[in-house]
Amino acid sequence: LSELFQVNRSTVVTAMEELMSYGMLESEYGGGTRVASNTWSLFMSTPPDWNNYIHSSPFRSNMPTIQIINKLEYDERYVRLGTGELSPSLFPHDLMTKVFKKLPAKIPALGYLGPLGLPELRRSLTERMALKGIDVPDSSIVVTSGSLQGLQLISVCMLKPGSTVFTESPTYLKSLQVFQSAGMHLSGIPMDKNGLMYWQIGKETGQALLYTIPTHQNPTGLVMPEERRKELFQFCNANRLPVIEDDAYGDLWFDQEPPKPIKAMDQNGMILYLGTVSKTLAPGLRIGWLAGPESVVYRIGDVKMQVDYGASSLSQWALAEFFDSGYYDDYLIFLRQELKARRDLALSLLNQHFKDLADWSVPQGGFYIWLRFKIPLSMDNLFQRALDKNILLNPGNIYDFADNNALRLSYAYADPEDLCKAIKTLSHVVEACLKK
Ligand code: PMP
Repeated sequence: LSELFQVNRSTVVTAMEELMSYGMLESEYGGGTRVASNTWSLFMSTPPDWNNYIHSSPFRSNMPTIQIINKLEYDERYVRLGTGELSPSLFPHDLMTKVFKKLPAKIPALGYLGPLGLPELRRSLTERMALKGIDVPDSSIVVTSGSLQGLQLISVCMLKPGSTVFTESPTYLKSLQVFQSAGMHLSGIPMDKNGLMYWQIGKETGQALLYTIPTHQNPTGLVMPEERRKELFQFCNANRLPVIEDDAYGDLWFDQEPPKPIKAMDQNGMILYLGTVSKTLAPGLRIGWLAGPESVVYRIGDVKMQVDYGASSLSQWALAEFFDSGYYDDYLIFLRQELKARRDLALSLLNQHFKDLADWSVPQGGFYIWLRFKIPLSMDNLFQRALDKNILLNPGNIYDFADNNALRLSYAYADPEDLCKAIKTLSHVVEACLKK
């Protein structure tokens, strides 16, 4: 070989050894060396066209802004002014430690659980919902891996693609994505100061459903007063329009308890009620629940067994213990006070720095202030310029694609010192955006 190709003999030996190590050459004692039988297939195989596979999924990619948010949320250089999550500094480490210490003695094992979830947890949830006027038996509750999964399961196992989902406009961003990816037709209904203007819901001939967040709405922070809840309920009843009521923030009120959930009026199973502990305790537990008519709950439980075989049993046991020990209620009292103090701080900072630039809502609970600029400005530009100052924003156009003039501010995540600095800096960023 070395003579034939005029290369150094040692180069040929090294090359052959290397090919041997790839399995491309094989040698037998006394039988010489030959090309391995599978070498051609190694040469010929090209990777699959993954792009083709990736883009044939019904799931759309996140908008670029959301992809950036998802990535930078874990970069500690940024102050997160829009994040819908409790600050790590509010996490109840001591209570969690106590709960987890008790678990090994309490739980039989960490096996799979039945389709509806841990009976002990469902019992506690029934009792807790009864305190809000929701009177349902344990058999009407299914535990989900977060309430977002509840939305997803409803979409994939209760609605035909092409069905209409009415939502508040703006609304919880991920709900929009879940419905869209399941092939639903979204119809945003505007809100006034009392929430969803239900009379603007059009007549639908096919399947339809309404998704609403009546208490401390995400992203506007609005609470729908009792009167509007009654009217909405009557409207949906009269039109046989099923409702998903998302109560993620219902426990996080400051001075006055909000009106009872709409589900409390429901005698004939028109409302699917979604709860979660993601906003009140820990999103990492990934525990939510759905309360509705048994037929729906069984359907969701059945499909959930096909999808993930149940929510984490460790999380379910831990949460059941958190409820039963009374720690959850103790923590809620602390949390409401903390969030209220943070809301007050955020409002005073806005009064100091944003008076001439924007108007905003005064939330009575939950995490969010909805800020609307007095002069329209490009959200993409603002988002980018804020990033340059190490501030991560949640611009309004991710909650309502047509709204290019609002911002969701959250006082739940950034700690007070960061909040003070970042809101001041943000006002300068906004001023700079308005100049250009
Ligand atoms: N609903 C609303 C209104 C929310 O804001 C959120 C979280 N941002 C969820 C549901 C999802 O919560 P989970 O972590 O339980 O899936």
